Amino acid sequence: MKFVPEKKPIYEETLDSLSERIAEGGEKPFRAKQVMEWLYKKRVGSWDEMTNLPKSFREWLDNEYEIAPAKQVLMKQAGDVTDKLLLQLGDGSLIETVIIRVPQEGVGLEHSRKTVCISTQVGCAFGCKFCASGLDGWKRNLSAGEIVAQLLQVCFLEDARTPRARPEIPSFDNIVVMGMGEPLANYDNLLAALKIVNADWGLNFGARRITVSTSGVVPQIKRLAEEPFQFRLAISLHGATNEVREQIMPINKRWPLEELLPAAKQFSRKQGRMLTLEYILIEDINDQLEQAERLAEIALDLRAHVNLIPYNTVEGLPWKRPNILRQDRFVSVLKDRGASVTIRREKGHEINAACGQLRLQTEKELRATGA
Ligand code: SF4
Repeated sequence: MKFVPEKKPIYEETLDSLSERIAEGGEKPFRAKQVMEWLYKKRVGSWDEMTNLPKSFREWLDNEYEIAPAKQVLMKQAGDVTDKLLLQLGDGSLIETVIIRVPQEGVGLEHSRKTVCISTQVGCAFGCKFCASGLDGWKRNLSAGEIVAQLLQVCFLEDARTPRARPEIPSFDNIVVMGMGEPLANYDNLLAALKIVNADWGLNFGARRITVSTSGVVPQIKRLAEEPFQFRLAISLHGATNEVREQIMPINKRWPLEELLPAAKQFSRKQGRMLTLEYILIEDINDQLEQAERLAEIALDLRAHVNLIPYNTVEGLPWKRPNILRQDRFVSVLKDRGASVTIRREKGHEINAACGQLRLQTEKELRATGA
């Protein structure tokens, strides 16, 4: 299903494409640069605020383009460190964007390092058994503009919270493409969006601070390896053998480990970047010590960092988070084998922080109230 908005979202345009369209509309192409400055450096949310543009041109822009393709409908916070935004798109679809703060010694939380996690699809077709995003299936891909708009929404929020000396620079430090949806199943729109995020006329945000996460879409991992951007890659492994991975990730039947791991190696070799292996620890499913042993071998072979995430309970799903003792044993095996490993004890447990949970819960509530 493809959603076609009445007006084209302005966040989908590049400097070149906007210059061309403006020229076709009878205005001077240099106006495109001014528009981009207002959008991405001064970050205004309406045409009227673009005060150095002639009124007739602002009217033309208003007729041609949508400037607000995402509307914040809900924000949930967990202990000052995680904000989860529920955004509504032009067709009423809901998506999630998360801001994660990492507190640092000696600085207030408002100046802590921030990572923004963005979505790429409404729902997801990949059906990983532990994930809330896939429970209602896949609805559609996000457009490039809708992907960019999530970051601008975060900028609006953060700029209003903490005025900064250099407001033209986004207030977050990292972007992870790890929210709702499989990013590499929406490859073209994702790449178009990240080019805008990376461009000097756009958010001017370094590719090396952007992590694309995939459940293992092998052909697109190989394609990403050939791109001239140095994005980071995270692979959601969640099982160190085909047998275990297949139980919870249907994608493993399509691209088993013997195809996925060489593709990951190819990416790492081509891009010269250390990979991350994401591994959600689920009790009695993938937290056995033999899995830890095999995971250590894989990580050492790929020279990858392992990020362990104890499972966040999802309503309607049977899986459980292992207790701390089991988590620590798993970590010890990896460390003893010399693998690089961290365990992320989730900060957002109490706000339905597993991807897709807040959206699912809100859609259920809306359905129940007939809204
Ligand atoms: S974990 Fe990612 S790929 Fe798997 S169902 Fe959830 S959103 Fe889709």
